[in-house]
Amino acid sequence: MQAVRYARASSVDEAITMLREGGETARVLAGGTDVIVQARERRRHIDLFVDIKHIPELMSLTLDAGGGLTVGAATPLYRVYGDAEVTRRFSALAESTHVIGGTAIQGRASLGGNLANASPAADSIPAMIALGAVARVAGPAGPREVSVADFCTGPGRNVLQPGEFITSIHFPARPAGSGSAWERFIPRNEMDIAVVNAAVSLTLAGDVVTEARFSLGAVAPIPLSVPTAAEALVGRPLTDATIAAADEAAKAAATPISDMRGTIRQRKHLSAVLTERVIRRAVERARA
Ligand SMILES: Cc1cc2nc3c(=O)[nH]c(=O)nc-3n(C[C@H](O)[C@H](O)[C@H](O)COP(=O)(O)OP(=O)(O)OC[C@H]3O[C@@H](n4cnc5c(N)ncnc54)[C@H](O)[C@@H]3O)c2cc1C
Repeated sequence: MQAVRYARASSVDEAITMLREGGETARVLAGGTDVIVQARERRRHIDLFVDIKHIPELMSLTLDAGGGLTVGAATPLYRVYGDAEVTRRFSALAESTHVIGGTAIQGRASLGGNLANASPAADSIPAMIALGAVARVAGPAGPREVSVADFCTGPGRNVLQPGEFITSIHFPARPAGSGSAWERFIPRNEMDIAVVNAAVSLTLAGDVVTEARFSLGAVAPIPLSVPTAAEALVGRPLTDATIAAADEAAKAAATPISDMRGTIRQRKHLSAVLTERVIRRAVERARA
């Protein structure tokens, strides 16, 4: 482990100042479940950790009167899936956060950390993309918003500028008749990295899909938005044939690599299988 200084920010402004003064080798510390491992393995040169877990708004979880959800960037994952309303209305998010690491990891790890770490296989990012989430960012140039779908730019890379950090993730309200679902394939039952993960959010009016958003993880350098799968469903009655068309669109959009976890062929196959599963589960929820 390298020697690293530690500073605790108690407000967003204080964190901005600490990160600016720390320069290029200052790093945000949320749960530390990725970044401490990276520092210990000397994969990143870090001189200063700025702990954001003592900033109240970064540790919040708020369901607003209009039905939207705002999760503080450093809020631990157990609070996300542990909230009954989040589980009911934002099911894909609850499902994805529930399997990240184990109980100990979920007591520290955050949505902001999962997103900023920008792993192509990160579990919560496809759920956030499918649910249309927006990352709220603070920094020396002032606040801004970035759609989660546009946040990652490559493995371990994202759109954040020097000194910027995520303050919260906002999820828009769910229209009536909506359902969402997330699923991953891993060879073990738990504590593994996704071979593929998939998420969908859709809205039904009777049997017709009026809105859908799909995302796949671990099949490209970044978690993918898959608009072609949505196009196969939207405006059409939900049938086995339209679901199969969405599955095929997901498979076609996947551009995976072969590695120790899976082959290109397996990952493309899984993209279709998981897409069908999440559609069917989201539809059940939309109808419930
Ligand atoms: C045993 C184990 C199992 C795991 N299992 C899974 C799994 O199943 N699925 C999965 O997806 N991941 C898994 N992970 C990875 C990790 O737990 C997650 O990515 C977690 O969500 C990271 O959140 P964190 O708060 O700990 O981030 P940190 O480690 O604190 O930070 C991660 C990176 O993001 C930056 N960062 C953190 N917060 C912000 C912010 N608000 N704004 C800007 N930058 C920020 C940090 O500087 C760092 O570069 C696992 C890790 C371990 C150790």
